[in-house]
Amino acid sequence: MSLPCIQESLIAATQRLSESGSDSAKIDASVLLCHALQKPASYLFTWPERVLTEAEYQNFNVLLQRRIVGEPVAYIVGEREFWSLPLKVSPSTLIPRPDTERLVELALQKIAPAPGKGLDLGTGTGAIALALASECPHFEFIGVDIQTEAQVLATENAQQLGIKNARFLQGSWFEPVVNEGPFQIIVSNPPYIDNQDPHLAIGDVRFEPDSALVAADNGYADLKYIARHAREYLAIDGWLLMEHGFEQGKETRQILQDMGYQCVSTQQDYAGQDRVTLGQFKGRNSCM
Ligand code: GLN
Repeated sequence: MSLPCIQESLIAATQRLSESGSDSAKIDASVLLCHALQKPASYLFTWPERVLTEAEYQNFNVLLQRRIVGEPVAYIVGEREFWSLPLKVSPSTLIPRPDTERLVELALQKIAPAPGKGLDLGTGTGAIALALASECPHFEFIGVDIQTEAQVLATENAQQLGIKNARFLQGSWFEPVVNEGPFQIIVSNPPYIDNQDPHLAIGDVRFEPDSALVAADNGYADLKYIARHAREYLAIDGWLLMEHGFEQGKETRQILQDMGYQCVSTQQDYAGQDRVTLGQFKGRNSCM
């Protein structure tokens, strides 16, 4: 059998991926071929007529087959870029989403020039904490995750990126930081999907850990828990920012207002959907 060149491999793979129902067939084919060849994307365009070796061809087909049965590209290649930072990902963590970069942008607007501390709850790959730490060398960030694998992965990501002002602790929500506050900023992209949500049966989320996606109380349990307890850890005038589902803005604002947060607002993601709700902590007396 004669082996295909790069261009032929891409065309055939794009076709197979589209037939399997992928709506990102072309880009998936290039990312997987780059991974099989261990080359950057520019290589594919520079050497379209380069014939694959038998080993490369086999390797590419294995990756393609995994994608055809629905496995997320980020898990297959073990990496995803977030805030221009290449992050290692694994099936023990959520795959960082572009929408979560909106949370980073909003958090940066709330971080003052004076030194301070920030907390990222349910940090996963460490994406949010690392993005903020990379932008704010005057701040120290702590990322917490209940999964040991996530805490280890986030720590590796910090080391690989050379980010020294972020560290990661294992535990449930605030448990590992009882002696660490107060924080000028607390951020979280917690689980917020209701376990009956039909989206859980479609696409990449099927392969992501339920512990990072699904929350009780119609998806609000963790949003409420974080909002309630953040008041014990926030500095006066500190900000809480939480990502949530596109239909959860109104109720999340209500939760924050009922708990005494001030200046509560919901901001939209890049698709114009409600995505992040934030509020300012003005002290225990006004918040009870
Ligand atoms: N935004 C993600 C999704 O809808 C879910 C992220 C989360 O639950 N924190 O796929």
